Amino acid sequence: MIAHLINTDAGNRGIIPVYIEYRSKRPDFLRSAAKLLLENCGRVLVVTGFPVPPSGIPETDGPPGAIALCRAVEMLGGRSEVAAQEEVIRAMKPVAKEYGIRIKFTENPEVKSYDLVIFVETPGKASDGNHYSMSGLPVRGRTFDRLAEDAEREGTPTIGIGDGGNEVGMGNIRDLVVKYIPSGERIASVVRTDELIISAVSNWGAYGLIAEASIEEGRNLLKGWREEETVKKLVEGGLIDGVSKRREISVDGIPIGIHADILRLLIGIVEMRLKD
Ligand code: ZN
Ligand code: ZN
Repeated sequence: MIAHLINTDAGNRGIIPVYIEYRSKRPDFLRSAAKLLLENCGRVLVVTGFPVPPSGIPETDGPPGAIALCRAVEMLGGRSEVAAQEEVIRAMKPVAKEYGIRIKFTENPEVKSYDLVIFVETPGKASDGNHYSMSGLPVRGRTFDRLAEDAEREGTPTIGIGDGGNEVGMGNIRDLVVKYIPSGERIASVVRTDELIISAVSNWGAYGLIAEASIEEGRNLLKGWREEETVKKLVEGGLIDGVSKRREISVDGIPIGIHADILRLLIGIVEMRLKD
């Protein structure tokens, strides 16, 4: 149910066939990711930030989900750190403060010192070694494939969250991205993670992961999340909508009210399931 909800393709960006085929092969993908999070929430590295071509200004998809994950980790008694481009860190700091969570921002993380690494909407390299936007434009700005590669080598568990096929983690289903996403052959990432969450908006993927973990854990880890305020603050901090490429309070070209509605549904479903 939650996996369906976070794959509501409100922006008509084409993730549905990828989701349906992925789900038919891995019906429990969200639950597996939630279990991995709950089993490894002591010290978590969250990686986020997608610089939008051609300006290279990072987008509003990713950082809200990353902050929500850090908040959930703290509620679970763990500690979290964030790796992102400088502009993203600058925008995230006041939001983390507002929620009263202590996120450590790290420059050059050593993957082996974490229990888990989560990538939320992070560019993953394509088969030619470059990074692309969904429309096939080259991404300029810092990328973090190295962390996924180090984690794979060192055996640190990883979760990837993406919505377009060009993000870290989509290497797990490169064949589906090539099959269904326009320019898939060019943009599909080859970078793999242990678990992969597909969603229509990557923030929703992160919220869905938290909702699923909440049900597993028996407490609502999304409670008190303020979507509108969070995105507004991040836009004031310099982030742009990745689809419209404008500084406006929206994510992936979808008005903020719809994001808030998805959150209300997720929180409502968790509350209902916790009463079962
Ligand atoms: Zn994306
Ligand atoms: Zn997105």
